[in-house]
Amino acid sequence: ATPTALMVGTGRGAQLGILIKGPEVLESTRAVDTVVLDKTGTVTTGRMTLLAVHTAEGTDEAEVLRLAGALEHASEHPVARAVAAGAAERVGALPVPEDFAGVPGLGVQGVVYGHAVLVGREQLLREWAMDLPADLARAKAAAEAAGRTAIAVAWDGEARAVLEVADAVKDTSAEAVARLRALGLTPILLTGDNRAVAEAVAAEVGIDEVIAEVMPQDKVDVVERLQGEGRTVAMVGDGVNDAAALARADLGLAMGTGTDAAIEAGDLTLVRGDLRAAADAIRLARRTLGTIK
Ligand code: ADP
Ligand code: MG
Repeated sequence: ATPTALMVGTGRGAQLGILIKGPEVLESTRAVDTVVLDKTGTVTTGRMTLLAVHTAEGTDEAEVLRLAGALEHASEHPVARAVAAGAAERVGALPVPEDFAGVPGLGVQGVVYGHAVLVGREQLLREWAMDLPADLARAKAAAEAAGRTAIAVAWDGEARAVLEVADAVKDTSAEAVARLRALGLTPILLTGDNRAVAEAVAAEVGIDEVIAEVMPQDKVDVVERLQGEGRTVAMVGDGVNDAAALARADLGLAMGTGTDAAIEAGDLTLVRGDLRAAADAIRLARRTLGTIK
């Protein structure tokens, strides 16, 4: 394409809310046939709400909220924000943890009021040789069947509660997926979240292919595997945990509402965090480069 065409394309991108790192990006955009979509914060709003607290027998709900809320207050994950805000709403001021560490893709661990506390996926508890008791396992299964994320809470070596957290699909996501399909692209939903939750979201927006329960560091392997199948892959994401996959993809699209790490790793930014702009970007690249030899 001529420099003029690329400049026009880049300028039109800016009007559409698409920030393009360099004119050469349009070249890789044109060939894309597969679009991998991160779930949380990309297809969904990422603004989660704490909906319910299920406690084990003999466990005080307020104590669950104080301990879990205190730890999550120190984390920036969308799940953590929901838990901290929901806890503060229900029990007031939260204690400051004596110790805190995030465990990427799994949850958080730390010390609150002298208790060793874990908040996160069931897998995080298993790593410390803890299981959910039958009543909490049932609460978790029911929450997930309803498309919600279930977060386990444990302290001092015992599972104590399951928190139900829900996210909302962005109201533009279904239309965005339909537009991607209309361009002949295959959409795939990729997430670290539970399979049942991922499938509920996929069904809501019209995606057939779901890759769930993927650890943050393994998202890049998924992109590589798809490329190994001969596909030209675009990845759309917003999180720190998407950065490597965004960089590895043939085309990385970062949500402008996402983290700096994602924006730096991407080839272009969807400024308003509107997924429909992903389809606009691909159409724009095809137009810009298609008209001029
Ligand atoms: P996604 O790919 O959907 O953006 P992540 O890979 O960041 O999600 O996390 C995967 C899962 O790990 C989350 O759905 C949640 O169940 C759990 N998780 C991660 N961080 C936290 C946290 N701070 N508190 C509780 N759970 C967490
Ligand atoms: Mg995300």
